[in-house]
Amino acid sequence: MVCFEKAPAKINLSLDVLDKRPDGYHNVEMVMTTIDLADRIELYALEEDQIKVSLWSRYVPNDERNLAYKAADALKKAYRITKGVHIRIEKSIPVSAGLGGGSTDAAAVLRGLNRMWSLEIPEDELASLGATIGSDIPFCIYGKTAMVTGRGERIEPLPTPPPCWVVLAKPNIGVSSRTIFQQLELDQLTHPNTARLMESLHAHDFTKLCQSIGNVLEHVTLALHPEVGRIKDKMRDAGANGVLMSGSGPTIYGLVEHESKAQRIYNGMRGFCHEVYAVRILG
Ligand code: ATP
Repeated sequence: MVCFEKAPAKINLSLDVLDKRPDGYHNVEMVMTTIDLADRIELYALEEDQIKVSLWSRYVPNDERNLAYKAADALKKAYRITKGVHIRIEKSIPVSAGLGGGSTDAAAVLRGLNRMWSLEIPEDELASLGATIGSDIPFCIYGKTAMVTGRGERIEPLPTPPPCWVVLAKPNIGVSSRTIFQQLELDQLTHPNTARLMESLHAHDFTKLCQSIGNVLEHVTLALHPEVGRIKDKMRDAGANGVLMSGSGPTIYGLVEHESKAQRIYNGMRGFCHEVYAVRILG
């Protein structure tokens, strides 16, 4: 038996940090949406009771450290499943980029195995299980566009953003979320206007959306990696309407209303940056 799942990347339209919790995690408030840049997950039933992961990437392990492996393992243990699976991952989402690549793979494995093994586990149970593996996994179970709060486990659906293009530029560095969160000074944050961002989504107002995006982690990553700031300036100079870093970076994205302009910006950014993509918002 074989099953395929699309695992789309996410971008943060906003990322705010409210406070630090006694358990060491932060309470966040984020608006996230999915984009049409995706990994492909293939699940093959195995006779033996084992989990195998294969993928071709220098940066991602193919053993029990892989988040896709952890997801399959957690599902098997929680629901006492003694079947095996071979997970093939075709990676297109850049790694350690702030685009949730590992989390979306894990979520796709949970969705896919739920179907392949006919478990009929409701989405919210899959999301709770995902939360035990990684904070961004609950959002990736539902996808679309949502307000994400708590540690990442509370998800409230939001309207899809107006149809638009996203140009993504990732410099040739990886950024660890843990390092960026550790350097965050909670009393010195300039918080994004999340309420205004939500209004723009409800009103399907592209201009207001572009004016309301914001990410409290941006200044930390920019201070550590000045090239991220230079890419942000280039993206703005190239004419993108709203420009922001996604997650803890280093990927900078630009929102653009029309395909022809997105293509122009994509071509322009390719001269400056290692990896550039132009894709649609799925939201
Ligand atoms: P985070 O915010 O958690 O850092 P990210 O989107 O910036 O997420 P990812 O692409 O998810 O970054 O990679 C983060 C780390 O997770 C890397 O060190 C990578 O080796 C590891 N990892 C484990 N499994 C996967 C996977 N299936 N795909 C990508 N990375 C994975």
